[in-house]
Amino acid sequence: MSEFDAIFVGAGHNSLACAAHLALKGWKTAVFEKNPVSGGAVQTREVTLPGFRHDLGAMNLSLFAGSGFHKKYANELKSAGLEFVPAADCFASVFPDGRWFGVSTDIEKTAGRLSHFSQEDADAWRRLAGGFMGEAEHLFRLLGSPMSARSLAGTGWNLWRKKGVKGSLDTAKLLLSSPRAWLDETFVSPHVKATLAAWGMHLDFAPDIAAGAVFPYLESMANQSFGMVIGKGGADTVIRALENMLAKAGGKVFHDAEIVEIMTSGGKATGVRLANGETHTATKAVIAGVAPGALAGKLLPRGSGDTGFDGAMKKFRHAPGTMMIHLALDGLPDWKAGAELKNFAYVHIAPSLDQMARTYQQAIAGLLPDEPVLVVGQPTTVDQSRAPDGQHVLWVQVRALPAQVQGDAAGEIEPAHWDEIKERYADRALALIERHAPGLSGKVLGRSVFSPADLERENPNLVGGDQVCGSHHISQNFLFRPAPGYARWNTPITNLHLIGAATWPGAGTGAGSGFMLAQQLAGA
Ligand SMILES: Cc1cc2nc3c(=O)[nH]c(=O)nc-3n(C[C@H](O)[C@H](O)[C@H](O)COP(=O)(O)OP(=O)(O)OC[C@H]3O[C@@H](n4cnc5c(N)ncnc54)[C@H](O)[C@@H]3O)c2cc1C
Repeated sequence: MSEFDAIFVGAGHNSLACAAHLALKGWKTAVFEKNPVSGGAVQTREVTLPGFRHDLGAMNLSLFAGSGFHKKYANELKSAGLEFVPAADCFASVFPDGRWFGVSTDIEKTAGRLSHFSQEDADAWRRLAGGFMGEAEHLFRLLGSPMSARSLAGTGWNLWRKKGVKGSLDTAKLLLSSPRAWLDETFVSPHVKATLAAWGMHLDFAPDIAAGAVFPYLESMANQSFGMVIGKGGADTVIRALENMLAKAGGKVFHDAEIVEIMTSGGKATGVRLANGETHTATKAVIAGVAPGALAGKLLPRGSGDTGFDGAMKKFRHAPGTMMIHLALDGLPDWKAGAELKNFAYVHIAPSLDQMARTYQQAIAGLLPDEPVLVVGQPTTVDQSRAPDGQHVLWVQVRALPAQVQGDAAGEIEPAHWDEIKERYADRALALIERHAPGLSGKVLGRSVFSPADLERENPNLVGGDQVCGSHHISQNFLFRPAPGYARWNTPITNLHLIGAATWPGAGTGAGSGFMLAQQLAGA
């Protein structure tokens, strides 16, 4: 048995960032991870052929690069090995009529492409991009602050002082709008609207979900203004750097070390018990980077002592699942719509708002979508170090899928466990890409498919393959994430904290919950 100041359940990037900050403040920290490697949803592995490095989860690291944690520790992270590669051609969409639209950091390129669809949209884009820094100041402040009624009021006050009543109402309206409402109001071309709306599908903001517009808005404008970054050699550059930083500060990470119980005494967390029977004491904090459903009745066998909290954790709503298809290729896809598409980090196949709305609804109803939304990541177009010379990896995210399959909207695949049907469904997704990039199947050297069930097996936080660990709909976001009264990473148990994607400010690689809690506990 060892004694630490803080013990972490799980080595996701939030835990590692939190542990690193605490260790640098002199806390004795230990992180316990059930898997043989750290990183959770940020991992890079050779899952097809030797020499082909695939990001199993996150590929786009822009949130980490723009995070408060990176801002404070950029030098330390760089010395610890962190390396980014920028993508200037960020994201694009291809359409059944053979057209495409894409956003590059060179605004003349983006606006030029827009003008082929609508001059009005090109003008609207320039206006939005021009006003972005003024808007972003408030939105980033909100997303980068601990969540409380006071911080919301502070953001509102600041907004009103800078933008007046009309400007503040415009921002509030953007925050509350569905993607479709905002896009219909802002753009004319259905192609342009669909290209931006696809970002909502990275979370669970289908086109008609209230308060979903802000994500497509932020992603589009941030990509236009700052570009996208991915990790040199793989997204796990972040994890290796965090681990190195933590080790240098005296923190420890233990792998193959599943925590099965958070021990409590007198309403206070006192330590943890591992699957192998070991116990360890935490004198100041136990910090759990887990899904809320893993607490009451599981890690906390007798619950937290607060039935309201326990009930809320059990009822925490997850978003639809994801399938990941990893391909090793001997050449990038030959996109029919234009050779320039080979340069883009992401190519979306999400042709219309109605197709996205239908896909989302099918997944919610337990059906395999007849035409899934695809995010085709081409990391080797910007970082050739992930594959042997002249060869490539493809990162295909299939959105959105049911956790348990009850039927098939296309009427082709009989409902069964994902293990039995995942390859057939992956064939459906790849056939969609083939339609836009004929000859893809002839370039495939290796393939590896992770169904929603596989994603959860790899990382129990991805319940039902939910890549964002919890719906981000407004009733479970802001002050309500993960539940009302617990948005500041607190629980009813003294010294027990919950961090990670299920908590404010939500999913993504921004390390927000980990870093903000660390500052709350040990100072900035
Ligand atoms: C397929 C996919 C694609 C994504 N793409 C992007 C992207 O491009 N950009 C982006 O910004 N975000 C992306 N995301 C989201 C982002 O990666 C996650 O929101 C984020 O990494 C979650 O971090 P976390 O700190 O909450 O912990 P997680 O990454 O969920 O890690 C939690 C860790 O805890 C461990 N653990 C859980 N329970 C226990 C236990 N009892 N004992 C010990 N260990 C335990 C797990 O094994 C895991 O390693 C993606 C996610 C997925 C799954």
